[in-house]
Amino acid sequence: MIHYVCKYTPIELFKGFGEECAVLEEMPENFEMSDQIAHANLCGFGKSVIQAILEGKADQLVLVNCCDSMRRVYDIVASTGKCKFLYMLDLPHEDNECEKVKFAGAIHRLKDAYEAYSGQQFDKELFLRSFAESEKEREPYIGVLGVRVSGVLEDMIQDNIQMKVDNLTCTGGRRLAVLPEEMETMDEDAMFLAYADALLAQMPCFRMNNSTRRNQLYLDPDLKGIIYHTIKFCDYYGFEYASIKKNIKVPLLKIETDFTSQSAGQLLTRIQAFSETIEGSEDMDPGTGISEEARKKMKSGVYYVAGIDSGSTSTDVVIIDQNGKIKSTMIIPTGGGAMMSAEKSLAAAVEKAGIQEEDIVRIVTTGYGRAYIDSGDDSITEITCHAKGAHYLNPNVRTIIDIGGQDIKAISIDEHGAVTNFLMNDKCAAGTGRFLEMMARTLGLSLEEMSTKGLEWKENIVISSMCTVFAESEVVSLVAQNKNVADIIHGLNVSVASKVGALAARLGKKNPGEYMMTGGVAKNQGIINALEEKLGAKLYICDEAQLCGALGAALFAYEKCTAGE
Ligand code: SF4
Ligand code: SF4
Repeated sequence: MIHYVCKYTPIELFKGFGEECAVLEEMPENFEMSDQIAHANLCGFGKSVIQAILEGKADQLVLVNCCDSMRRVYDIVASTGKCKFLYMLDLPHEDNECEKVKFAGAIHRLKDAYEAYSGQQFDKELFLRSFAESEKEREPYIGVLGVRVSGVLEDMIQDNIQMKVDNLTCTGGRRLAVLPEEMETMDEDAMFLAYADALLAQMPCFRMNNSTRRNQLYLDPDLKGIIYHTIKFCDYYGFEYASIKKNIKVPLLKIETDFTSQSAGQLLTRIQAFSETIEGSEDMDPGTGISEEARKKMKSGVYYVAGIDSGSTSTDVVIIDQNGKIKSTMIIPTGGGAMMSAEKSLAAAVEKAGIQEEDIVRIVTTGYGRAYIDSGDDSITEITCHAKGAHYLNPNVRTIIDIGGQDIKAISIDEHGAVTNFLMNDKCAAGTGRFLEMMARTLGLSLEEMSTKGLEWKENIVISSMCTVFAESEVVSLVAQNKNVADIIHGLNVSVASKVGALAARLGKKNPGEYMMTGGVAKNQGIINALEEKLGAKLYICDEAQLCGALGAALFAYEKCTAGE
């Protein structure tokens, strides 16, 4: 098996040797082995190649001289001695006639090198038979662009987007417009020139100098949205994203991984929320998804729906009656698993409402733990549910700030409460509810005590570190210096506000309207004050702020039941 990393690799050539080819796209759990021999700031993909070689997952590898990282990878892989056949293909930056001739020469040299290594003869018949059909059907699709997307990530995107997904990154969408019949009568030089022409005629990647065809892709009427992938420490594609994002008219989601399987897993909520943004989160056909039993209950005129928001800190429930009015709410700490907390919270909300659980005809779940609750009829991301809930509570809100236990989110919504954009920070704990909990513990206070005590601050102390671990050391050292606790808390509030406010301001500037804060941290007046100062705007806060996600979920359940009425 010959592994390759780039769509410009002449894999049909190897098929002419009777060899199978596969993309090297291992997303390891970590870079434990690679980190021992490669520099820490090598791009994640480069590390993944080295890791795969060290783990013995490939021993015949063709790289291309794509960028400096790839050249470093070649040198490191060569130094391991673990590859029986390792080749760096010389790829041009242009697709003009002169470069095509050079590339044909490079393909020829590769053929000679493989013949010399394997002792096998190139078979023209096998080569010509290996060309795959390349026609792309015209239909609406989501384009996955940017730098390479692994099979794991591509599958995750396809599983969560209700539309065709076309992977147009380094290894996907390999389409050659070459006709083998024409090549049959050619001599080898002419045949490889035609082959080089076909390889270079593919949709150009960002490394190619001429981006005209790539720019046209962004205007394709069938392109309904773009998921743009970048890899940590890959300057190339971070740069392209910055240059295109202002001009793209279709919905655009940027995702970044470090090419580990863990980083791919963290993207699920973003991809699902993007899908909901594009297609509308719910199928509003009243005939689908509602059982006969539920339908009977609805006909009786008295029924309820519920939304469950399963967060890492609390599990919230909102029950709505047949008139769309809130009947009961419940917030309990999440403990003992998402499923158990959801059942407990729902049972408590049912008891508070004085109703029977059987009278609830539909349940929508949301939040971090929604995938683990199997009693719901639907599951919608917290991003879409917060938008729905916030719009219900105040239709003037255009930017929502949600500080959750595990992440922070800024959500931009339109006048109907639909999500138009969102930003999330879910890779580190800085600025999250977990950060505040840890700081409260360090100060020996409860979260409630911390939220009131910080209001008495006098001295403006700056906590310079955003990292939870370093911020904790800073707090310990400030306590040792006998600094006033209120001043330390204020410093922490300002540090959270600067992190969260930066996200919110990016969206708020483009979508003027009121800001709202949702989630449990909306009860923390110190954070609210610091955020208002950072944003230069008032935050809309209400009693139901913590329940916004559950409320949105319940409203989706209600809409489903009443659609078509
Ligand atoms: S950026 Fe271009 S040249 Fe580099 S690996 Fe991707 S497709 Fe190949
Ligand atoms: S293009 Fe980016 S991801 Fe690919 S090898 Fe180069 S630096 Fe790494």
